[in-house]
Amino acid sequence: MSFQFVSDWSGPDASPDIRISDFFTPYMKLLELDNVSKVFGGVVAVNRVSFHLNQGEVLGLIGPNGAGKSTLFNLISGIFKPNAGTVRFNNKDITGMAPYKICESGIARTFQLVKPFSRLTSLENVMVGRAYGSHPARDTREARIESEQILAFTSLANKQTRTAGMLSLVDRKRLEIARALATKPKLLLLDEMMAGLNPAELDDAIALVKSIRDSGISLIVVEHVMKVIMGISDRVIVLKTGEKIADGTPQEIVSNREVVKAYLGGEVSC
Ligand code: ADP
Ligand code: MG
Repeated sequence: MSFQFVSDWSGPDASPDIRISDFFTPYMKLLELDNVSKVFGGVVAVNRVSFHLNQGEVLGLIGPNGAGKSTLFNLISGIFKPNAGTVRFNNKDITGMAPYKICESGIARTFQLVKPFSRLTSLENVMVGRAYGSHPARDTREARIESEQILAFTSLANKQTRTAGMLSLVDRKRLEIARALATKPKLLLLDEMMAGLNPAELDDAIALVKSIRDSGISLIVVEHVMKVIMGISDRVIVLKTGEKIADGTPQEIVSNREVVKAYLGGEVSC
């Protein structure tokens, strides 16, 4: 198992207590949702959804548009409070906690529509992230060193002085991941980060997700491209109109009749 990335970005002056591997025993349940629901007016966006994620796993989350995937991310990251159910993270009940508290406890997420500070440089955007999260940088110097390492990890080293608003789509997506990594999460939620990428960019993005996982960070990944989901996920859960209709290995999911009917026959690109 490699935790190279974590120790690299920690920098020479970082405290020794921030190696993610030190926090966990293998296969512990990192995240557990129990009968979580969210209602908007008359729409039940998430309906009694339960699942868990083990430490070190990559969980794929799929379902047609409107299935409730982004709402589920909003419930886990504290943007919405569930109407019912509980969310436990790292052996703690985080249901309804404020987003910044959840970020401090070690959950980071990207947004489906990426939102960098467009007038700041890439480096400044990541440095903002280093001010928050589970282990904020102690000073600007440390934030800068660690942010440069994160930008190198996300293949943005040669664009760190570029204004975020001037970056290409693929680089803005990388920057969104870099900003999330800057909060030093134990769990990273990626919401359709690969939409709109060409095949070569997709391969790079898949490699990046694998490197993040190899650094000891667990992930939940929402994607429509099945090649991506099947290639990176240890397990996949499927949502349809707010309900979980399947939970299994990628092989189990592609051969599940209900999933094929609800989703795989529909809008998926392979
Ligand atoms: P997905 O990400 O799977 O495409 P969403 O979670 O965005 O689906 O949406 C699930 C359902 O919840 C949809 O019917 C959507 O219109 C509704 N919804 C999501 N967010 C809100 C909101 N802030 N207010 C009202 N309805 C919402
Ligand atoms: Mg969505």
